[in-house]
Order: sequence, then structure tokens, then C-alpha cells
Amino acid sequence: MSKSGSRPKGGRKGGPKGGQYRAKKRLGQNFLADRGVIEDIVAGSGTGEDDLVIEIGPGMGALTEPAAKAARRLVAIELDSDLVPGLKARFALDSSVEIIEGDILETDLCALIEEQRAKDPGIDKVRVMGNLPYYITTPIIMKLLEDEVPAASITIMMQKEVAERIMAEPGGKDYGALSIACQYHCRVSEVCDAPAEAFRPQPKVDSKVLRLDLREEKAVSPKDEKLFFDVVKAGFSQRRKTLSNCLASLCADADNAKQAAAGMLEQAGIDPARRAETLTMEEFARLADTFAETR
Ligand code: SAM
Repeated sequence: MSKSGSRPKGGRKGGPKGGQYRAKKRLGQNFLADRGVIEDIVAGSGTGEDDLVIEIGPGMGALTEPAAKAARRLVAIELDSDLVPGLKARFALDSSVEIIEGDILETDLCALIEEQRAKDPGIDKVRVMGNLPYYITTPIIMKLLEDEVPAASITIMMQKEVAERIMAEPGGKDYGALSIACQYHCRVSEVCDAPAEAFRPQPKVDSKVLRLDLREEKAVSPKDEKLFFDVVKAGFSQRRKTLSNCLASLCADADNAKQAAAGMLEQAGIDPARRAETLTMEEFARLADTFAETR
């Protein structure tokens, strides 16, 4: 893992048109000002010269320009209508870069990727990249995973604590539904750290860049994927309670729900007194299959 985060280089004060720009806190605007971190993100993403980059929240384009140089094409989606004209002007002469004004959470990325491949059949892999707006980090990640966006990798900057939850193994307080969702769909690796000083304005938290490589085959093979995630969510719904308490909500017989949940757990070979944070993904899959068989 790189240590580039320890060498901030100072920020860009001007806005997209060269004037002063006041960052919008409500849109999570902390612009990258550390060339080392920017280079590490692009290099760490593994972007090849024939790849398509989808950038989430280009801001003033700090990551956009070097990512576009590394790639064949780049499409960037920015919500802030004050930033879009400057971005469009900056890349007006580069036909390989498209700036779209829009909300990433409302964007049909599968359709967008299909359109790009139709426009340019020479596109190889798709790389999603971004210094994410932290107020919607988890919804963005969950959308990318649940929509099964056909990308090879997702390389994203996020609050360090969220990165730790994504990477967490069973047994600790950070391990939860987000860890399982990410590790089920992806192999997760660290790219670099970024201290608050790497941004303008500086956030109150430190950050980390993770790369999520989408798996061709999921980490486990539950019979019913939706039910698997229902069991995971129910399991972590009350972290201090035992699994038989947490999973009662999934049992139809309301009067005996806790006993029914305990029975399912025993059938799956799992002690009903355990807590969700101690279960491996394989155990969750086995448990979900037990629920599936009895439905
Ligand atoms: N990539 C730039 C950089 O590193 O300097 C900006 C990163 S800043 C942390 C997050 C960017 O995401 C901002 O430009 C913000 O306006 C944009 N943004 C916020 N919410 C968004 C959304 N729902 N869809 C797309 N972009 C969004």
C-alpha cells in the first residue's frame, strides 16, 4: 500500500472558471489537492489504455484529467450544476471525455456502459473510479453492487472508518452487512491512505482508497441470493442480541418465532446463542439455505 497520503502539495483555490469557488458541504465537496494521492488512485485502479473509466463526482476535474490520460474513454457524472460548465469547457477539445450532469444514484450505469460500448467497440474493461461524496458512500457502493454494474473494478476514496467496515473479517465490531455485501461481490484491496490535509477544504476525517475487483463467481453460492441478504440484514439488525432473537423476524409463526429461528440455526449447525458478527459468510450462506429449504 502506498504512503502517498503523507505528502500533500497544496490546493487549487480557483473554481472551474478560474475564479474563487465555495465548496458545497451538503454535496460532500472536498477536492483532492495531493498529486501523489491522485496518481496512486489512477495507478491503483489498474486502468489500461483501452479501458472505459466511469468517474463519480469529478468536482473540478483533479482526478478526471489523469484518469482520462490513462484510459481510452472517460465518462464523468457530476451533480453540481455550478461545476458542470467549467468541466465541459475544460474537456471540450477531448472527444474521449464526456461530462454528464446528473445524480449517480439515479443514473442507469448498465445502460450508460452499453451505450459507450456501442459508440466504441474497442473498449476493453470498465473501471469505476471516484473520490466519493462521503454523505452517500454506502448507497453508491450498494447501487454499484446490486445493479451488477458490468465493471472490472471500482476504485474509490472514502472515509477511513467506512473502508475498515468494508474490509472487516468476522469477530470484530466493524464486521457487518456492508463487509459481507462487498466481500460477496468483490475482492477488496487497499490502494492508499489520504490524510485530511490532502483535500481542500479539509474534511474532519481521514480517508482511504479501496479497490474492489468484481468477482466472476461470488464468494459463496447461496440457493437464494435475496434470502441470503435478508438473513444477513436481519442477523445484524440488533447487534447486541443473539441470532435467534434477530432472526425471529424472518419466521412466519409469530407466536413461536424465536424458537423457530433457534431451530433453523441448529439445523444449520450454528449455536443460536451466537451473534451475527461471529458468523463467516459461509455460515450465513448455510443458514440462508436452511431457511430456503423450509419455505
Ligand atoms: N473528484 C473531485 C476531487 O477529487 O477533487 C471531487 C470529489 S468531492 C469529494 C465529491 C464530488 O461528488 C463533488 O464534486 C460533488 O459535487 C459530487 N457529488 C455529490 N453528490 C453527487 C451525486 N449524487 N451524484 C454525482 N456527483 C455527486
